[in-house]
Order: sequence, then C-alpha cells, then structure tokens
Amino acid sequence: MAVIVQKFGGTSVGSTERIKNVARRVARWQAQGHEIIVVPSAMAGETNRLLALAREISSSPDPRELDVIAATGEQVTIGLLAVALHELGLKAKSFTGPQVRVLTDSTFTKARILKIDQERMRKALADGNVVVVAGFQGADEHGNITTLGRGGSDTSAVALAAALKADECQIYTDVDGVYTTDPRVVPEARMLESITFEEMLEMASLGSKVLQIRSVEFAGKYKVKLRVLSSFADEGEGTLITVEEKRNMEQAIISGIAFNRDEAKLTMLGVPDRPGIAYQILGPIGEANIDVDMIIQNIGRDGTTDFSFTVNRNDYRKALGILDQIRQSIGAREIAGDNTICKVSAVGVGMRSHPGVASRMFGALAKENINIQMISTSEIKISVVIEERYLELAVRVLHKAFGLEKPPKATLGLTGRGETDIISPA
Ligand code: ADP
Ligand code: ASP
Ligand code: MG
Repeated sequence: MAVIVQKFGGTSVGSTERIKNVARRVARWQAQGHEIIVVPSAMAGETNRLLALAREISSSPDPRELDVIAATGEQVTIGLLAVALHELGLKAKSFTGPQVRVLTDSTFTKARILKIDQERMRKALADGNVVVVAGFQGADEHGNITTLGRGGSDTSAVALAAALKADECQIYTDVDGVYTTDPRVVPEARMLESITFEEMLEMASLGSKVLQIRSVEFAGKYKVKLRVLSSFADEGEGTLITVEEKRNMEQAIISGIAFNRDEAKLTMLGVPDRPGIAYQILGPIGEANIDVDMIIQNIGRDGTTDFSFTVNRNDYRKALGILDQIRQSIGAREIAGDNTICKVSAVGVGMRSHPGVASRMFGALAKENINIQMISTSEIKISVVIEERYLELAVRVLHKAFGLEKPPKATLGLTGRGETDIISPA
C-alpha cells in the first residue's frame, strides 16, 4: 500500500463531467489499496474570473481580500469532487487549506508554505476516506486566508506529499507529461520520460508553466517523487522528475526549449561611467519590489555607458517611472523601454560537458534573421532576449537545431561523456 498525492489542474476539473472522471480515476487507485490525497485546482478560468470581478470594483484591490476571493475557486471543486466520490460509493472528505492547517507566511497572493499539520489528514485516511484538499491556499499565523501564487496548486500537492512522506506526487494535467517545449507551440515536441530537478527548475523559471517553480523547488528539497501525467489518457507513465542525471547513452545535451512572453526591457543611455552606477539604478528598482532578470552594461566610451535590464512586463510602467525620476540625479542622457520583447532559452545539464551549444543556438537564430538583444548563460541554460513577434519561429528553429523532435540516441549518436563533440554541424 502506498500513500499517493494526486493533483488535478483546472482543465481536468473544468466541468462536472470531468470531475466525475477524476473521481473514477481516484477510485481505481484506491481500489488497488492505496491511500489517496487529491488536490484539485479551481475549474479552468475560474481564478481569472474571480480576480477580474475584484478589478471591476477597484483598480488596486487589497491583496488580503484578493486571496479571500481567489481561494473560493478551489473550495468549490473540493466539495464537488467529494460528492462525486460519494456517488461512486467511496468515503471521502474535503478540507480547505486552512482546515488542514497549511500554515503560510503573510505575503498575500504569493504566500510561502511554512508548515502543514498532518493530524486531520492522517485521521481521515485512517477512517478509510479519500482526502480531498484544496490546492493554492493556506492561512497565516493570524488565520488570514492566503494563496500561493498562480499555478500554486502544484506546490500545495508537493508540500502535502512532503508532509505526509507520500510515496509519489502525481500532477495530472492536460498534456501527457513534460515535453521538450510547449506542444502548443511546436507540435513535434516530444514527451520526456524523465527530466532532472535541476533542468525542470530552469524550465519552470524560464517560462514553462507546466509546473509552478516552487513546486519543483519543494520536491527537490524534500525528495518528493514527482510525476507529471495526463488526466485525459488512461495509460502512460508521464514524466518522472529525477534527482539523478542520467549518464548513459541517451543523455541529451539539451532537454528543452523554454520561453517567456512576460518580459520588458529598460535602458538608460549615456550614463556616466563611474563606480556605483549599477547600484544607483537598480537600488530604487529593488526597493520598489521589482525583480530584475537580465542585466547588461556596455563598455564605457567617452566617459559614458549604456545600461539595460529586463523586468516582468507587469512591472514595466512602474520601472519606467522610477528610471525617469532618477535619470536627472544620475546625469544620464535618455531612457528607452520596450515591452514587446520575449525570452527564449535552451536548457540541459548536458551542456556542462559539451561546448558549442551557444554557437549552435546563435547560428540557428541568425539563419532566420532574428536579432539577439541580450544574452545570459548559466551552467545549464542559455537565454536570449528577442522581439516578441519572432517567439514562435525562434522556439521552432531551436527545437529543430537541437534535434529535439527525435529521441536523443538516434539524433546524437552519443558515445560517452566528452569522448566526441556530439554537436555535429547542422
Ligand atoms: P494545469 O491547469 O493542469 O495546472 P497548466 O496550464 O498550468 O495546467 O500547465 C499545462 C500546460 O503547460 C500545457 O497545456 C502546455 O501548454 C504548457 N506547457 C508549457 N511548456 C510545457 C512543456 N515543456 N511541457 C508540457 N507542457 C508545457
Ligand atoms: N487556481 C489557481 C490558478 O489558477 C491555482 C492553480 O490552478 O494551480 O492559478
Ligand atoms: Mg498549472
């Protein structure tokens, strides 16, 4: 007998028919003798609808109240799912996040889980119930309802699995698993049997929203066995997120292409080239709680330089306003901004040991006349900022340039780590 946490995303619980399907799937697992904890999201589109209602009343609603509103979406689906399970003759009990004491900090709309009380869940399981817990929500130490950020049910599920020391956490969604890139953009994208935590973390933080970043962090930290699979298919093992990097013949250099549209670029031109300038520009941006992603400072010329950085598109206007305020005191010439950019990234642990990934990436983009505006790299990823209108094209050509549509063995003819340069010319 195993303890299994099963999370179902918005599309998977998008109608009462689908909720009944989820109940049937849960029943099959329970019939095999497993203890099941189910974590549903709100019905597809519901969280957006709820948040939009608040914005019809106020342009800047209190985040505490936004959480009170948004958390209702999941309260509906836990109740409906419990009723659907009862209809199948199963014992089931639903709980909101605060009821099972998912304790979070007080950062409304993007709270972090601090602790989960197992007692009520254990008792309900011991009584033979399927335990249905609302994703995306918790409560802070004062009893205020909190939510975990968009896509946060993934994190709820992984955190519950960690707390209960579950044997597996299964994330059921509307695709069969984690693909080499978003299959909606590249139909030839291939499902991965496994991907390392490190790679999944990069993919998620670079824009692949199939898993919320924090859920991957959590799973890595607490060693939760995490699997992504389809709630619509009856078969299939999905994608396993693994700790160990596979060091065998099938190790690909690049595991996937991620992209993010929510980007904007700001540039301060003609900045005096003296110590402390980066701090003077980015200090006020940080104080305004704006996250900065890529940063580029050009080589100084005639005593001045240009300084560019990217932020989330939602913070673009605010960041532009701040730069405008500090421009004069810094003595910079001019400010420029662009919120029609995007970021495309190649991710793979294999690039650690194989040179030539960057040149292959840049070559593929050059061939399509796609101009690279910024570049950033780490050990296992290369990201470029390009014009948003080239996003789909860039993702498609990079997917092809790295042969991701074919299984790694056939594409790359790997002979072992470092023995040959496995990136052959295109
Ligand atoms: P859920 O509501 O089940 O949480 P999400 O919409 O949050 O579902 O995540 C699933 C979606 O993630 C897919 O429909 C797919 O379009 C998108 N996606 C983006 N990148 C990838 C990827 N690399 N592999 C699989 N799906 C991806
Ligand atoms: N319902 C929440 C959202 O739409 C949480 C989730 O679906 O994971 O963001
Ligand atoms: Mg999701």
